[in-house]
Amino acid sequence: MNSKHIIDLELKYGAHNYHPLPVVLEKGRGVFVWDVEGKKYYDCLSAYSAVNQGHCHPAIISALNNQANKLTLTSRAFHNDVLGKFEKYASDLFGYDKLLPMNTGAEGVETAIKLCRKWAYLKKNIKPESANIIVFDGNFHGRTTTIISFSNDAEARDNFGPYTPGFIQVPYNDIEALKKAIDNHENIAGVLIEPIQGEAGVKVPDNGFLNDVKTVCSDCNILFIADEIQTGIARTGKMLACDHESVKPDILILGKALSGGVFPVSAVLANDEIMLCIKPGEHGSTYGGNPIACQVAIAALEVVKNENLEKNADELGILFRDELNKFIESNHLVTKVRGKGLLNAILINDSPASSTAWDICMKLKENGLLAKPTHGNIIRLAPPLVINKSQLLECVDILKNTIANF
Ligand SMILES: *Cc1c(COP(=O)(O)O)cnc(C)c1O
Repeated sequence: MNSKHIIDLELKYGAHNYHPLPVVLEKGRGVFVWDVEGKKYYDCLSAYSAVNQGHCHPAIISALNNQANKLTLTSRAFHNDVLGKFEKYASDLFGYDKLLPMNTGAEGVETAIKLCRKWAYLKKNIKPESANIIVFDGNFHGRTTTIISFSNDAEARDNFGPYTPGFIQVPYNDIEALKKAIDNHENIAGVLIEPIQGEAGVKVPDNGFLNDVKTVCSDCNILFIADEIQTGIARTGKMLACDHESVKPDILILGKALSGGVFPVSAVLANDEIMLCIKPGEHGSTYGGNPIACQVAIAALEVVKNENLEKNADELGILFRDELNKFIESNHLVTKVRGKGLLNAILINDSPASSTAWDICMKLKENGLLAKPTHGNIIRLAPPLVINKSQLLECVDILKNTIANF
């Protein structure tokens, strides 16, 4: 079957809850993917930063296969012989007492919200059903009914109510607004933050903002909850984006690249004071902590260390922004490049309602590079972190040529 047939099949039998670029992929290796016609592309989305370790990394696939032939699922009704090993490995790596495993990112966020509320009732003696969590304008934390309740993206939120109460929105990157919200509201239990807002278009806060937020939280006995599902696991040039400011979250949420794009694995990490607020029977997931997920996650984290992906993301990210900044001095279609490490975006000089960014992505696809617009006129560029310098420069050339000829 060719691309058109396959796309038609999805259109006819699949829900229309996505609007993908019209490319049908059948194979991936490292930084490359191939479509069913055999055309090869650079993957500059990496499944929203899930595939940081590159497509089908042999070490991760081998961990998957070995475990799949041995034991796949026990549920948490019984122990399995891999979960504890993974919990220790990741807790040590990120510097926490304990880990709670889930599957998807949204489940990780839901877990963090429940944990934060439970902590507030048990340890802060907030009166029942009144805990508030502060979130930020432009946030993206997933798609559950509770999470979309505090989104201000109309497409994500409208007509899905009634909404879950208990969330207060403040502007991103505005420490005074946060302090005011804390002064003006009672019963604040936590602040839920993306250290860089990926979906909003790779919005990087001012240097020092995360530190200020953490300080305010500590001073007021409020939990600092970092959603590092997209920014974590070396994407921004450090293991966590919070590491750029040496900020340690009270609750850390990981997903996406925690498994290198091989298997849905998410996790919430915290110290005992917080984590032990949830008792047996109070939270869980049938697949959470399954042995395949645990082996895959250990292998995926080992790849990040063994292949020095933090350093690569940091160095090639600087090169990427330097090259594109030189280019936009003489080009008026791109107004800005921003980001950290290999999580970057270019801003297209047209309204968010225009199709310009989409049309540029279609041309990039013709020229062998896959990327997707976010919020209309922003194109996020996030290749797998295993990309090397000459590959990165080739991506830059494709971008420059495509945009210059547009
Ligand atoms: C992708 C993402 C999520 C949701 O993860 P899913 O696995 O799609 O549920 C949550 N937060 C952030 C910052 C994300 O990028």
